[in-house]
Amino acid sequence: MIDFDLSDEHKLLEQTVREWGGREVTPKIGELDRAHKFDPKILPQMADLGLLGICVPTEYGGAGMDYIALGCASEELEYVDTSLRVIMSVHVGLNSLSILSWGTEDQKQRYLVPQAQGTQIATFGLTEPSAGSDARGIQSVAIKKGDRYVLSGEKMWISLADVADNFLVIAWSDLEKKKQKDPSGLSAFLVERKFKGFSSGTLKHKWGILAGNTGFFKMDEVEVPAENLLGREGEGFKIAMFALDQGRFTVAAGATGLIRACRDASVAYAKERKTFGVEIGQHQLVKEMIAQMESDYQASRLLWLRSGWLKNLGRRNTKETGLAKWFSTVASERAAGDAVQVHGANGYSDEYPVGRFYRNCKGAVIYEGTREIHKIMQADYLLGYRTDRPTRCELPPYKVSVAAR
Ligand SMILES: Cc1cc2nc3c(=O)[nH]c(=O)nc-3n(C[C@H](O)[C@H](O)[C@H](O)COP(=O)(O)OP(=O)(O)OC[C@H]3O[C@@H](n4cnc5c(N)ncnc54)[C@H](O)[C@@H]3O)c2cc1C
Repeated sequence: MIDFDLSDEHKLLEQTVREWGGREVTPKIGELDRAHKFDPKILPQMADLGLLGICVPTEYGGAGMDYIALGCASEELEYVDTSLRVIMSVHVGLNSLSILSWGTEDQKQRYLVPQAQGTQIATFGLTEPSAGSDARGIQSVAIKKGDRYVLSGEKMWISLADVADNFLVIAWSDLEKKKQKDPSGLSAFLVERKFKGFSSGTLKHKWGILAGNTGFFKMDEVEVPAENLLGREGEGFKIAMFALDQGRFTVAAGATGLIRACRDASVAYAKERKTFGVEIGQHQLVKEMIAQMESDYQASRLLWLRSGWLKNLGRRNTKETGLAKWFSTVASERAAGDAVQVHGANGYSDEYPVGRFYRNCKGAVIYEGTREIHKIMQADYLLGYRTDRPTRCELPPYKVSVAAR
């Protein structure tokens, strides 16, 4: 039987994150955004709430919740600011869940446990100056030398690049396959900031997610112990795609939260602002924008919930998660544009949050698969150009009772 109710546990989580965000972050987010400042003090607070290991099993230091919980937290965090949800996407979605699924027991003890507890922060490095959508175009290499790999290359547009301790890095371990752009020559590595030859920086001229850290890192002959290879040699592409299945889920749920934030701000403003003797909410064209936000919110939420439900069941969900990510991020762009419109000139000022929503939403239409890449993917499934095989994915045996009841 299908049940559209969240469990009490999920409702409590939503309420907790909502109250924490409203109390601790909302009052200062405008200032942080204006100052282009990432506030590292937010991380231990998120760790205390259990968010940094939310769906990591308790035996690895996590909160032991499920994917629906990850989605609820992501939605609530992005309701406050996109920078908070980005932390969940890279730290939990892209990095920790990949270690949980693909890591050895030793890797889980060394990286997953401190990450889930929030004593170490993690991110994911695939994109490079010369390649984003076309991951096979990356140039980073990993040359095997005895019991280590020597990694060289540069990663660009990496969330938390200047903040994280640990990095899941994709690089070519087979140089012949690199020449052919054969993705079975890519491997995944767990790299620490403290490894010699690693350096990072922050991108200075970004115009969105200003309270978040986005940067680059360079690997100048970084020696990575062979035991830090994640999965087997040649599994890097698969691992990257697996990671994106998790990251996209958090992006979808987050964009849903942003739409809700746009809707709530617009409803409040439409009842406060008057033109031609009536509240602007009385004008049909303003109603239309608000109604569209509501339909986009509800549809986006259903899409990420379905994706999370499939994940909890351990079923392949690349298509559904991609659809949720594509739909909700494009809808969030529409909602943010209309939220600014509802606010008129005030929307064009950072005295109101909707301008920040407008700048923040665009990133998600680009990262973790651009709008175009997702469109192609959905069409390719329908046209039969793409099919997914069942994979060793999803995660621990989540109790379906928690998620879907
Ligand atoms: C704020 C932010 C944070 C990010 N964080 C991370 C991170 O933590 N880790 C990480 O690895 N990366 C990260 N990225 C990078 C992001 O994943 C890439 O920017 C994204 O994959 C797109 O790659 P690109 O920018 O090189 O664009 P390109 O791939 O060069 O694409 C340019 C344009 O061409 C279009 N295009 C490309 N190929 C096709 C095609 N086959 N058909 C039709 N259109 C096409 C694209 O849709 C886009 O419109 C981040 C990006 C941003 C903006």
